Amino acid sequence: MYMPKQKTKEKKPKRKAAATAEASDKKLKTYALLRGMHDVLPREEKHWKNLYHTAENLAEHFQFSRIETPLLEEANLFIRSIGKGTDVVDKEMYVFEDRDGNKVALRPEATASAVRAYIMHGMWNMSQPIKLWYWGSMFRYDRPQAGRYRQFNQVGYETIGDADPVADAELILVAHNFYKDLGLPVEIHINSIGTPEERQRYKVALVDYYRSKRSYLCDDCKQRLNKNPLRLLDCKQERCQPVKEDAPQIIDWLEEESKNHFMKVLEYLDELAVPYVLKSTLVRGLDYYTRTVFEVYPAVTDAGAPTSVGGQQSALGGGGRYDFLVEEIGGRPAPAARFCLGIERSVSALKQYMDANKIKPPVQKFDAYLAQLGDHARRRALKAINELRSSGLKIDYNFSKNSLKSQLEAANSLQVPYALILGQKEVQDGTIIIRDMESGVQEIVDQKKVENLLKKKLSRFDDDKK
Ligand code: AMP
Repeated sequence: MYMPKQKTKEKKPKRKAAATAEASDKKLKTYALLRGMHDVLPREEKHWKNLYHTAENLAEHFQFSRIETPLLEEANLFIRSIGKGTDVVDKEMYVFEDRDGNKVALRPEATASAVRAYIMHGMWNMSQPIKLWYWGSMFRYDRPQAGRYRQFNQVGYETIGDADPVADAELILVAHNFYKDLGLPVEIHINSIGTPEERQRYKVALVDYYRSKRSYLCDDCKQRLNKNPLRLLDCKQERCQPVKEDAPQIIDWLEEESKNHFMKVLEYLDELAVPYVLKSTLVRGLDYYTRTVFEVYPAVTDAGAPTSVGGQQSALGGGGRYDFLVEEIGGRPAPAARFCLGIERSVSALKQYMDANKIKPPVQKFDAYLAQLGDHARRRALKAINELRSSGLKIDYNFSKNSLKSQLEAANSLQVPYALILGQKEVQDGTIIIRDMESGVQEIVDQKKVENLLKKKLSRFDDDKK
């Protein structure tokens, strides 16, 4: 039998089918985002930039040094620090085995990583406290909804190696200043949850009390009663509110030292004129907190609506003291405190507030708009833009626009004071036109002189900038 002929016969349609499938695949296949993930689009950039600069400025001012830690760490680092029984560890961690069989996790928060770095790089050997700050992505396999993502960004500040209430107050001041500098009114809620021993005694009293009210509780609270009793105080269900209101308050379980520590934090805040609201039910969701805990909420103003998650008002950020975490994950004892805030939620609250109050976001200011007409001019224009940029001038342009009219319209809507116009004739003559956008007056100048001339013209606005 002569086989090859048959073979080629079989192959042909296969290849064709594969090619067709590939072509239709190319044509049809679009990709969606994974659930809980989101893009930050260019239109958001001005807000993100604003927040970043605010965060960085505060870090410089209050002497926090930038730290970058990996997104991926040993899973146990988070399990040990955040604690079994917390939502973050039990339900929300992205944990998997890498190719070597190591159990790793995408960081759900960065405090544990910062503390790991503090221990690992011998920062305990340096002059204390060590003050660190970071900005980056965190991952929690949470139920996605408005303001709650599976990948989101946080900025955080950590003070490690200082037990004094001044460290707590300083971090709350950073939180207060952050939103003040952004122009977003917020409320700071504060409480003390004492030492682990004080909290343990309080938990017994809380569980006793809640057991006696079991039949009035929602299903979640019935579970919390056994698994994580402090979270009972977090419940937002209507039916649990009367029970919560009469619950024992942790402050009554604090010993002298913890009470004094808390009083001193509050005295500092009074001295600094940082307003706060005492919240006896504030406990925070992570195990490592001791003594001071605080949260930041958008203030409810007449015009500005607060952000919400699932219909509930949601915290923009939070923090507190964590005096035993360093020791817990293998370091020498070092008392510490933190503040951390969510970027997405802060941006969203800021936008809502600005919209409600008709506040326009700051627009990027350009010194001039360069309009070009024709191929030669475009080539010369790119060079000119680069030269002007090197001399510190900010020039806007759009090479996809060809008509002078549309380019001048763009310059107008950007409210630039000057347009530079480059046509074929100007390229040939080595000149450029400077147009005063307000008066419409134009002058032809030597291209070599345009930089100085433009700077001289712009200097008349210097007084406005002061
Ligand atoms: P936490 O680390 O839980 O104290 O969270 C601090 C802040 O991070 C919160 O107040 C939120 O602004 C933000 N945040 C926490 N979880 C999420 C999430 N799943 N999606 C978006 N932002 C979050």
